[in-house]
Amino acid sequence: MATDYKAELVGVLGQPVSENPTGVMQEAAFAACGLNWRYLTIEVGPAQLAEAIRGVRAFGMRGINLTIPHKVAVIAHLDGVGESAKLIGAVNTVRRDGDKLIGENTDGQGFLRGVRQDAKIDPMGKRVVLLGAGGAARAIATELVLAGVSDLVVVNRSVERGETMVADLRKSTNGPLRFEQWVGTYKVPADADLFVNATSIGLYPNVDAMPDVDLSDVRKDTLVADAVFNPAETRLLKAARDLDLPTLDGLSMLVYQGVIGFEIWTGLKAPEGVMKQALQDALGG
Ligand code: NDP
Repeated sequence: MATDYKAELVGVLGQPVSENPTGVMQEAAFAACGLNWRYLTIEVGPAQLAEAIRGVRAFGMRGINLTIPHKVAVIAHLDGVGESAKLIGAVNTVRRDGDKLIGENTDGQGFLRGVRQDAKIDPMGKRVVLLGAGGAARAIATELVLAGVSDLVVVNRSVERGETMVADLRKSTNGPLRFEQWVGTYKVPADADLFVNATSIGLYPNVDAMPDVDLSDVRKDTLVADAVFNPAETRLLKAARDLDLPTLDGLSMLVYQGVIGFEIWTGLKAPEGVMKQALQDALGG
C-alpha cells in the first residue's frame, strides 16, 4: 500500500500567542475531515516577521493566520491582498495561490456570518452602533457597510483613532459612517438595530470590566453583540440578556472566521459543529 507521511502545514504567527485557541478548532476540523494537516501556533515577534514569512514560503505552508501585532505589517511581505483585506487595511489569513501568498481578512466576514446564521438577522438597511476603532472594529464595520447597513456610528474613546477609522472607511467604501466620541456613559439610542462591542473591554483576565453603556432605551429586538470571546458570556452580554435582548457572543465570530479560513485553505466545506464544540471545550464554555 502506498504511504504518504507528509503533512500539510498551516498555523498562526503572533506575539503573544500561547492563549490563541484557533489551533484547537482547526485541528479538530482536520481530524473530522480525515486530513493529514497540522496547525502550528508559533510565537514570532515583529523583528522576525519577514523571516517567518520566508519560512512559510520555504516550508510550502498552505496558509497562515496572523494575530497581534502582525495584521498590518504582514502586508509588506505578501504578493497581494484580497478585496476585504484591502478595504480593511489588515490581513488575518494568508492563502497560497501557486507560489504566491495572498492576504485575506475573515474577521469581519466571520462576524457577519454569525449575525446572519446564528442571530438570523440580515444587516441590509439596519442601523448600527459600533464601540471601538481598533482592528476588530475596522473589519466588522467594513463588512457591515458592504452588507448594506443604512447607518453606522463608530463610538470610540480616542477621537483621533475613531475619526481616522471613519475617514478611511468612508473613503474606501463610501459607506454611511459617522463618529461620536465616547465620554462618560454612552446611551445606546432607541433606533439602533444592532449594537456591537468591538473594544477589548471585558476580555480575560479583566472579566469584571464592562463598557460604560446604558441599554435602557434599547428596543426589545435590538441585537447586542460582543467581539470578546473569552469569556463567551461577557458582562455586557449578561446585562443584555437580563433585559431580554437578543445577543451574539464573540465565539460565533471566532468560529466563523476559522470556518471561512478552513474553507479558503482546504477548498472543503468546514465541519462547523465540530469546530464550535472544540472551541467551547477549549475555553471551558
Ligand atoms: P485593538 O487594540 O486594535 O483596539 C482596542 C479598542 O478597544 C480600541 O478602540 C480602544 O479604544 C478600545 N478600548 C480598550 N480599552 C478601553 C477602555 N478601557 N475604554 C474605552 N475603550 C477601550 O484591539 P482589536 O480591535 O484587535 O480587538 C478588540 C477586541 O476584539 C479584543 O477583545 C479581541 O479579542 C476581539 N477580537 C475578537 C475576534 C473574534 O473572532 N471574536 C477577532 C479579533 C478580535 P482607544 O482607541 O480609545 O484606545
